[in-house]
Amino acid sequence: MLFSDGITALKGVGDKNAASLKKLGIENIGDLLHYYPRAYEVFAMPKGISEINEGEIVSIECVVAVRPEVLHIKGKTIVSLRVSDPTGSIRLVWYNAQFIVKQLTTGSRYVFRGKAARSRGELIIAMPQIFTREQYIVKMNGLWPVYPLTKGVTNNLLTKLIKAAYKETDDTEYKDYIKRTDLKSLDIIGTKQAIEGIHFPKTAQDYTLARRRLVFDEFTGFMASVRSLRENRVRQVNCHKITDFSIWEDIRNAIGFELTGAQEKVLDELKKDFSGEYCASRMIQGDVGSGKTIVAIMALAAFAKAGMQGCIMAPTDVLARQHFESFDRLLAPLGIKCVLLTGSMTAAAKKKCYFEIKEHEVDIIIGTHAVIQEKVEYDNLGLAVIDEQHRFGVRQREALSNKSDSPHIVVMSATPIPRSLAIMLYGDLDLSIIDEMPKNRLPIKNCVVDTGYRPTAYKFIAKQVTEGHQAYVICPMIDENDEVEAENVLEYTENLRKALNLVKEGIVVEFLHGRMKAAEKAGIMDRYASGEIDVLVSTTVIEVGVNVTNATVMMVENAERFGLAQLHQLRGRVGRGSAQSYCIFIKGMGGKDIDDRLNILVKYNNGMKVAEEDLKLRGPGDFFGTRQSGDIKFTLSDIYGDAEILKTATDYVNGLNKKEFEALCDFHIQTNSLTI
Ligand code: ADP
Ligand code: MG
Repeated sequence: MLFSDGITALKGVGDKNAASLKKLGIENIGDLLHYYPRAYEVFAMPKGISEINEGEIVSIECVVAVRPEVLHIKGKTIVSLRVSDPTGSIRLVWYNAQFIVKQLTTGSRYVFRGKAARSRGELIIAMPQIFTREQYIVKMNGLWPVYPLTKGVTNNLLTKLIKAAYKETDDTEYKDYIKRTDLKSLDIIGTKQAIEGIHFPKTAQDYTLARRRLVFDEFTGFMASVRSLRENRVRQVNCHKITDFSIWEDIRNAIGFELTGAQEKVLDELKKDFSGEYCASRMIQGDVGSGKTIVAIMALAAFAKAGMQGCIMAPTDVLARQHFESFDRLLAPLGIKCVLLTGSMTAAAKKKCYFEIKEHEVDIIIGTHAVIQEKVEYDNLGLAVIDEQHRFGVRQREALSNKSDSPHIVVMSATPIPRSLAIMLYGDLDLSIIDEMPKNRLPIKNCVVDTGYRPTAYKFIAKQVTEGHQAYVICPMIDENDEVEAENVLEYTENLRKALNLVKEGIVVEFLHGRMKAAEKAGIMDRYASGEIDVLVSTTVIEVGVNVTNATVMMVENAERFGLAQLHQLRGRVGRGSAQSYCIFIKGMGGKDIDDRLNILVKYNNGMKVAEEDLKLRGPGDFFGTRQSGDIKFTLSDIYGDAEILKTATDYVNGLNKKEFEALCDFHIQTNSLTI
C-alpha cells in the first residue's frame, strides 16, 4: 500500500467512513499515518484503596466478594458494588449500565479503573472500566493513543485503521532525506520508527524519540521554504528607491503624540532600506499596542509622495476597514489617496477599485487577501506591508512580492518570540523590534476570577461605561460550531443587556460574531468606534488588531479555554489609550494548573514575558504539550518548547549542499508535510 492510496483501500472503510475521516483532513493512507494522537492514556500499576485521592484516575485490584446492588433512583438505574483490598474498601458506581451485573462473577479477581469522585461525602469510583488481570497487564505495557475525533469517527476506529495502514504500507514509502550517519549525529530516529512510535509507543521514551523526529521534520519543512525564499530573493536590487522622507515630518506634526524612540529607530531602519541599494525584506516585531500601524502609515506615505503605489494587507475585514480609516484620516489632508479593497465588497465596487488602482488614481491600497488577487494590477508598486503576519503563510508573502517587479516587503507581527527564535523562523527577513510602549500608557490591571464574580464584574463594567468608557466581553465558548456560537452570543448579549441596564439604564450592548455578514460587522464596529455602542459582546473575531482607544475593560469568559498567547492578544484590545484599563479573566473551571497558567497574565503585561513564563510552566517538550504559540502553525511542534530541535533543524537545513537541499524539498513535497 502507498501513502497516496485513498483511504478506502483499507478493509472496512466505505464511503461513509471516508466522508467522516475527510472532516479530519484524512483522505489517503499518508494522511492517516500522519494524524497524530493528542494525548496518551497510561494504565498505571493498581493502587491500594487507602492511597486513592479525589479527582484522580485510579486502578485498583480486588476480588468481587458480593453481588452488586441495583438501585432505581428517579428513573435512573444505578449499579453499586463495594469492594475491598488489604488496605481498605470503596464503592464502585455505574450509572445506567445494568449489564455490568452480568459481567462480574462473584469470587473472581478484577482490575477496576475510573475516576475517584466524592458522592454524598463518600469517596467512590465512578463508571470504572473492568479488566481481568491479564487484560490489564497488556494495557500497562504501553501508552494508548487518544486521537482528536469528529462525529462518526471513534478512537477505536482510528486506532484500528492506523494499525492496519501501518502494517500494510510498503517499506519503500518511508524514504528518508537524512543520511544514516547523520541520523546518529542528529540524535534522530528513522521515519518508519517515528510513525510507529507516535501511534504505538510502548514506553514514554518511544514517544519522545518519535516526537523528536516528527518535530524535526516539521521544522525542516518550514526551514526549507524559508531557505528557498531567501535564496530566491537574496539581494534584489532596489528598483523602487526613494530618498525624500519629508512627509514624515508632516505626519509627526499631525498625529498629536510623540513617536517612541523604538518607533523612530524602526523608521530609521526603513529609511536606510528604501534609499539603499537593495530591496527591503523586513519584519517589524512589536507587542500589541506598541504602535506598529503608524510606522506602516509613514512608510507607505513616503512611497505615495514619490509617485509610487503601496499596499497593506490585513487578516480580517474588520481590521482592514479600521486601517483604512486611520490611513485616510491622516493622509487625505496631505493629498494622498487611500482606497479599501476587501473580498466582501460588491463586484461593482471591486471593479471600480481595480480600475482606480490600474490608472493610479489611488496611492495606497488597504485590504484583506483581496489585494493579492490576480485581478489587481498595480501601477508601480513600491512597498507592500503585511499586518499581523502570523495570520498569513509564507506563500502569501511570496504572492505579494511577485505583484510587480520586486516591491519592498515589510511584515508586521505581534507574536512575542525571542530574537534568537525570530531570526531562525524569519530567516529570510531582516528584523526590527519595537521594544518600547508609548509613554502615555498605564499598565493594565488584571484579575482571574470564577463565574461567581460575574455580577460584580457587570457592575464594574456599568460603572466604567458611566464614566464614558467602553468594554468588550468575549463570549463563553460552547462549541466550535459557528452556528451554535452565534446563538450563544445572541443569548449572552440578551442577558448582559438586562443585567447592565438593571444597574444603569441606557447602556447600549451589541454583539459581533463570525457568521455575520461583512457589512453588518462593519456597521457594528463603526458604531463601537464612534462610542455609540458601550459594550461589545464578541467571539474572538476581534482578537487581532482592533483599536478603540476608549475601551478600558476586557472581560473574557471561559478564559481557561484559550491559550495564553491568544489571551494576551485579546487583552491587547484595551490599554491603548491614556486611561487605566482592566482585564477580567473569568474561568469556568477551576484547578491549580489553570490558576497557575492564568496568573502569568496577572503577573506580566509584557507579551515576551508571558511566553517565557508559559514555557517554564509547561516545560520543554511537554509530554501532552499544548501548542499555543499563536504563530506559524505546526502540527506537533512548539517553537518555544522545541527551540533546541528548531535550532538543530535550522543548522541542518542551512548546511545542506544544493543537491541535498533539493532532496529535502522533494521529501516534504511528497509527504505533503510542508507546513506553509
Ligand atoms: P499595534 O502595534 O498593536 O498594531 P497600533 O498601531 O494599533 O498598535 O497602536 C495602538 C494605539 O496607540 C493607537 O491608537 C495609536 O494611535 C497609538 N499610538 C501609537 N504610537 C503612539 C505613541 N508613540 N504615543 C502614543 N500613542 C501612540
Ligand atoms: Mg496592529
